[in-house]
Amino acid sequence: VEEIGLPERSVVTTCAYCGVGCSFEAQMRGEELVRMVPWKGGEANRGHSCVKGRFAWGYATHKDRILNPMIRDSIDQPWREVSWDEALGFAAGRLNALRERHGKDALGVITSSRCTNEETYLVQKLARAVFGTNNTDTCARVCHSPTGYGLKQTFGTSAGTQNFDSVEEVDLAVVIGANPTDGHPVFASRLRKRLRAGAKLIVIDPRRIDLLETPHLGEAWHLALRPGTNVAVMTAMAHVIVTEGLFDEAFIRARCDWEEWADYAEFVANPDYAPEAVEALTGVPAATLREAARAYAAAPNGAIYYGLGVTEHSQGSTTVIAIANLAMMTGNIGRPGVGVNPLRGQNNVQGSCDMGSFPHELPGYRHVSDPDTRAIFEAAWGVTLDPEPGLRIPNMLDEAMAGRFKGIYIQGEDILQSDPDTRHVAAGLAAMDCVIVHDLFLNETANYAHVFLPGSTFLEKDGTFTNAERRINRVRRVMAPKNGLADWEVTQALANAMGAGWAYDHPAQIMAEIAATTPGFANVTFDLLDERGSVQWPCNDAAPDGSPVMHVDGFVRGKGRFIRTAYVPTDERTGPRFPLLLTTGRILSQYNVGAQTRRTANTVWHDQDVLEIHPHDAENRGIKTGDWVRLASRSGETSLRAEVTDRVAPGVVYTTFHHPGTQANVVTTDNSDWATNCPEYKVTAVQVAPSNGP
Ligand code: SF4
Repeated sequence: VEEIGLPERSVVTTCAYCGVGCSFEAQMRGEELVRMVPWKGGEANRGHSCVKGRFAWGYATHKDRILNPMIRDSIDQPWREVSWDEALGFAAGRLNALRERHGKDALGVITSSRCTNEETYLVQKLARAVFGTNNTDTCARVCHSPTGYGLKQTFGTSAGTQNFDSVEEVDLAVVIGANPTDGHPVFASRLRKRLRAGAKLIVIDPRRIDLLETPHLGEAWHLALRPGTNVAVMTAMAHVIVTEGLFDEAFIRARCDWEEWADYAEFVANPDYAPEAVEALTGVPAATLREAARAYAAAPNGAIYYGLGVTEHSQGSTTVIAIANLAMMTGNIGRPGVGVNPLRGQNNVQGSCDMGSFPHELPGYRHVSDPDTRAIFEAAWGVTLDPEPGLRIPNMLDEAMAGRFKGIYIQGEDILQSDPDTRHVAAGLAAMDCVIVHDLFLNETANYAHVFLPGSTFLEKDGTFTNAERRINRVRRVMAPKNGLADWEVTQALANAMGAGWAYDHPAQIMAEIAATTPGFANVTFDLLDERGSVQWPCNDAAPDGSPVMHVDGFVRGKGRFIRTAYVPTDERTGPRFPLLLTTGRILSQYNVGAQTRRTANTVWHDQDVLEIHPHDAENRGIKTGDWVRLASRSGETSLRAEVTDRVAPGVVYTTFHHPGTQANVVTTDNSDWATNCPEYKVTAVQVAPSNGP
């Protein structure tokens, strides 16, 4: 304010970081942003925010932003700044030539969970309607794709069941593989308030998270499980509930498939899943596990919240199914205060999945093989659609290395930093003839690009984001795009340069097309959102005011489905060379790989990642807090400073992944979830030794 002067006007928009989706007033003086103030009318945040959102605008004006398109013939040449027309013509020419020579399936796209619903919808449409392929994937591949699979199989749709307001009615919260205080701070504040008011807490996490330090916390259990044993713990909880007769038979009979329940109940009753039988495997004392299972089953309202500590495992999808099983067997679904609630990491990861970013699903989670769904989009788009699912990101890279996948358009995603097995990603990208990166900064992936298209920040966008509670929030343009074109305009221009005839004038028209083709969005318009502030999907004639709680009278798929959850150990094992298990997480002031937050005032609070190590393990290695250590796995090694703490159990080490110097993905394995290929970031066998630094 001192530098720019008092604000003259304000624009209400939505934070572009985490899945809470806080609303802010961007206060402006002329074209200068004076400050961001959390908006009291925001239904996800009600006037609150965290330190990330407050200072998010810093990266919008950062000197590192690339504002002009650039091209080069090959990646060993320097970049050449060109006009938008030349860049788009160059990109379209290469893509058309590659499609002509190698076929439509030689091309693909990656959508961004940081972009709007409208932008994401257009990118998957570019793949399907212009390239002619279902080769579209999203960064949700590396975070919540198991949520998509597990909840679709059990409940019938891939979304959290509740609104955030529901937390006010929770009697017992189960927090699994999540650290809301750092990852979803505004939601965490509401949960802590409820815990202070007497709600009970079960934390299932290898690390002692801050929620367990909530002042005046009542009854609480910490199931400090060994990384990689989620399914054994969840199934053992189910064992207790089944064998002690604590399940809700009336709910199961009314709402679920009884035969599948009977089969599942017989499966979990196996003594091999008794808490005593899995104690040595999981590291969770049997008595604690039994108490926690009984408490969850007995709670009038028990709600489960979970994060990437559930999904980023070789059994990520199985764990999501196990969680859904627990909620169904106790009747904790379909009313306020209960449910299964994935805490989405990125601002629009829910929306990017809703909008058909996955290679097997058109918008609204409808399989590409369904002729009725294809007919809707074929009529709307005037094309014939491919009925075969396309390639996932790792398969695109494999196909590239085999010489069959040639060109990719990547919007708002730095796969070289965020995806597993960095060497594999680099080799795949290097094998392609046309890599188009559409982003704010010259990121690591851009080292392998032939075309760089400058992107716009959330302050320059018009459209919608969908948060973790399915709330569709408006994103309003605060300032004109500094790069000249909004992201949706870039995608449209690329499509048209390839020969399409798209003619959208405004993102509201794109939303109108989404509403016309996707039943859950049928009544969503910008006018409705501007009038009401926000709305939670499904929003259609059956639910004109939206749907704060899902599965109220019945599951989306009809009967809820119980599925067996056999525990299968990960291939990643400790041994004499790598005796510790590494798991990862986030810190309050930083966001993902830090591309945005490192370019804001938030660097004041965090300038490096550290390795948490238990005092016992530290002493054995002669390590003290602040020492440099070498972290090595079977995949690679990196250096970082140590913090000796009993937040982690003996045998477990932990770090964050916000700083590029840490290179956590050099250490992680190439194991992935059996159903979705989501990487197993949360379990890596490592050795830690004192070092002299990088
Ligand atoms: Fe809200 Fe998340 Fe943004 Fe923080 S990062 S202000 S909690 S949306």
